[in-house]
This record gives sequence, structure tokens and C-alpha cells, in this order.
Amino acid sequence: MSVSTVLLDLDDTICAHPGSPEARLADAFGRAGVEPFFDVADVRPWLARVTAETELELRERCFGGIADELGRDRADALAVARAYEDPDPEAVGFLPGAEAALGALGANYDLALVTNGGRETQTAKLAALGIADRFEATTFAEPGRPVKPDPDPFDRTLATMGVSASEAVHVGNSLRSDVAGAQAAGVEAVWLSTADEPVAVTSEHTINSMGELRTPPWT
Ligand SMILES: [Mg+2]
Repeated sequence: MSVSTVLLDLDDTICAHPGSPEARLADAFGRAGVEPFFDVADVRPWLARVTAETELELRERCFGGIADELGRDRADALAVARAYEDPDPEAVGFLPGAEAALGALGANYDLALVTNGGRETQTAKLAALGIADRFEATTFAEPGRPVKPDPDPFDRTLATMGVSASEAVHVGNSLRSDVAGAQAAGVEAVWLSTADEPVAVTSEHTINSMGELRTPPWT
């Protein structure tokens, strides 16, 4: 069956914040008056292990867990968690080629968003980018529901769109969340190649820039 529907990730696929997470973490250490004792790469494995109701609680659990593991003062980690400033969702910008790719894809395919971000933050980003109306379905992280790489958000999106997995492709920057998640739902994956953590997953298609989607790699 041919592809009628393109699912897309949002963060670091369509848009990104101008500042890096590394710079925000360095600022947080500075504001908290704590000598840096971990970096962004140390946080990533914790994000997959802990759950929380708020971004602050998530940071407290991740940073606190790192401090415990390293035998550091937990109070320092919590101070850094509180000093960390969430980026303003309205400050996002398009990744190179992403805006043109959305326009070109939208002319030929139905588009849907599958993001692990919360509804409020992600809706603000879509509004800031002016692309909220490009998607016929938007699937956000919902309390109590699994997120990518679980197939559930893909299954829900396909159901909303009324298409089977073989009629869709998913485009995203994370091998772990996007490529493995899409494949778990039976959906072909297009990986936007980035300096991602190595995961034993192979995407059906790989692109180096969103601009390449103006000529889709799938058939
Ligand atoms: Mg992403």
C-alpha cells in the first residue's frame, strides 16, 4: 500500500531552541553556585528511568539520582534543578529546511504530529511557528499514557487518521524514540541523522537535513 500519511516528531526535527541544553545546564550550575559535576549526557539515561508530574520534579529526580550515584551532595543537585530555566516555548525556530519540507509534504500527504512533549508547551511552539493548522492529528504526552518509543502514541495517531501502519511513515531525530518507536508500531521510519546516542536500531531511510524531504525517500 502506498504512503498517504506522514507522521512527524517536533523537537529537534521540525524546530529547536536557539540555546543548547549544555549552555542552559552550565547557567544553572553558575546560578546555583555549584561547581559542575555532571553534564547533559549524564542526564539522558535518567530521563528514560524516572517519571514526574512537572519539569522541575523531573529535573530534581534526574539530578538527585546522578548526585546519589556519584556520592555528591544531593542538596547541590536540587539547587541546580531549581536554578535551571526551561526554555521559552515561543522562542523556538525552524530547523534548516523544515518549513519548506512541511509545505512540500503537506501538498501531497496528510500530516500528523507525534511528540513526547506535553500539550501546553508543544501547542505554544506550534503557534509560535505558525504551523498548528498543518497537522490533522496531534499526539502529545498525556499523563498516565506511554510515550515514544512505546507504539501507543503511534497507534493512537494512526487510528485518528484512519490509516494503517503501512500507509504511514514517521520522521524524527531520535533513534530510540522515533525510529524504534515507529518500527514497534509497524511504521517505516525516516531518521533525521544527528549526533544521537548510539542505539542498535536501523532506520528504513536516513536524511541529513529536513530539506531532503521535498523529494521523499519513501515510495
Ligand atoms: Mg525529537
